[in-house]
Amino acid sequence: MVDIDGERLLTSLRTLRGFGATGSGVVRPTFSDADMAARRWLRHQMAAAGLDATIDGVGNVFGRSRNHGPALVIGSHSDTQPEGGWLDGAFGVMCAIEVARSFAEDATTAGLAIDTVAWSDEEGTYADFLGSRSFVGALSAADIRRANTAGETVAEALERVGLRDAARVGFESGRHLGYLEAHIEQGPRLEEGGRRIGVVTSIVGMRAMQIMFTGQQNHAGTTPMVRRRDAGVALFEYCVRLRARLEALAGPTTVWTIGNARLEPGAESIVPGSAWCSLQFRDPDDHVLDAIEAAVAHLAAEMTAEGPVEVSASLRRDRVPPAEMSVELRRHLIAAAEARVPGAWVEMPSAAAHDAMVLTGTLPCAMVFIPSIDGISHDFAEDSDDDDIVTGCQVLADAAASVLRG
Ligand SMILES: [Zn+2]
Repeated sequence: MVDIDGERLLTSLRTLRGFGATGSGVVRPTFSDADMAARRWLRHQMAAAGLDATIDGVGNVFGRSRNHGPALVIGSHSDTQPEGGWLDGAFGVMCAIEVARSFAEDATTAGLAIDTVAWSDEEGTYADFLGSRSFVGALSAADIRRANTAGETVAEALERVGLRDAARVGFESGRHLGYLEAHIEQGPRLEEGGRRIGVVTSIVGMRAMQIMFTGQQNHAGTTPMVRRRDAGVALFEYCVRLRARLEALAGPTTVWTIGNARLEPGAESIVPGSAWCSLQFRDPDDHVLDAIEAAVAHLAAEMTAEGPVEVSASLRRDRVPPAEMSVELRRHLIAAAEARVPGAWVEMPSAAAHDAMVLTGTLPCAMVFIPSIDGISHDFAEDSDDDDIVTGCQVLADAAASVLRG
């Protein structure tokens, strides 16, 4: 087994943190000056690891090994949320580079092919998973016209940062054996369970629905209670009844969120004539998602039949199915975890979305998690223990060597 250089990994991560550093966090949205400066630095780091490094036509930083395949693609994303932590994505990118450079330095692994990547726009500043979708050929012309909140499109941003004419890196079927990614958990389960490593079984599926309430708008003083068709009352009652039904259907990791709601016209002296709320739910099992979707529609029909307000439910966008990680690649991660931290690893679904979700339709994928302190992420307070950072990278390196040696 090749030992990675933990101090070098931590030093590199702290340097990457400097691009867009804001307090204890990082503000490095895709195609910002800080993001592009970080990408140029990452390209340099990949080149220094002996890889043929480029920034491609959508901003992916790709380091292609000069060794013959089969190759593993290893990486994560280097962009952040509008207010991001220093490890979300950055951890996995620096792990990939550390694996590549430690393999190159050791005679027993110097012939193995590791292609490293820092994906572009995983966080969806312009278009969700821009870089990984480009890699698997799933990017449409409409995606290139997608804009950030300032109204700049992907095409305009690529022009501005000088990448308009750069070639795009893509999946090579004869070469790329699979994809590995290390990431922080971004939740509390590993820490609460006293585990050092999580091996991801699947990335949860997600559905988003809108529930509409149609009543009768009227005067809040002159309309007797018995005559009212108050859409607001129906909305609150629906949400309370839904909670009881979803608790009965939920699996151990089901989550649901009513993240937005509105009463129309939204005035103190008007009985709301209509109302709506959003409902998002996630689970690793499509059957659970089906059951929840059916329950949401059933409750709407039930309340419409009871009256006096009509309730209807519909999907807000396409269903995102759960993405299964490769059983074969997971086996290598589990063996590596058991060797490095015996008994202190666990298999778990990822409750957050990742590039592997996009890639898994094209090549086998697996992910390894390390604990997030207090389960906090997408926040300046996001952090992990140095020991966990180094252990996560080491498990990744051991698994990569084991996969490539067959
Ligand atoms: Zn991330």
